[in-house]
Amino acid sequence: MFGFIKRFFEQRRRQREIEAIHQEAGRNLQQWRESRERGEDAFCPDCGAVLFFVCPGVTTAEEIRTFAEESAEYSGNKDALNGWIHPGIYCPNGCVEVLEDYV
Ligand SMILES: [Zn+2]
Repeated sequence: MFGFIKRFFEQRRRQREIEAIHQEAGRNLQQWRESRERGEDAFCPDCGAVLFFVCPGVTTAEEIRTFAEESAEYSGNKDALNGWIHPGIYCPNGCVEVLEDYV
């Protein structure tokens, strides 16, 4: 009985932690998109590097190649070096990788 109650509270606490992480991520995403709309750089919350946005029809293959070549995380990524990355938001050091779907 008590074991059951303990598990219940543990599960609930874990769920709250996950929700908090998602909320934090959502706030970051919102801020990054707003910065981008204002034409300003957005920065990685972990390492402070400028985040790279990949938007279909906007970001050129050349920009992706340059990002990959200068990035610690993506300089070994063949697709990126060939000018292709899944649309999204990336930290050059690999802390942030948000894949976005454009439908
Ligand atoms: Zn980073």
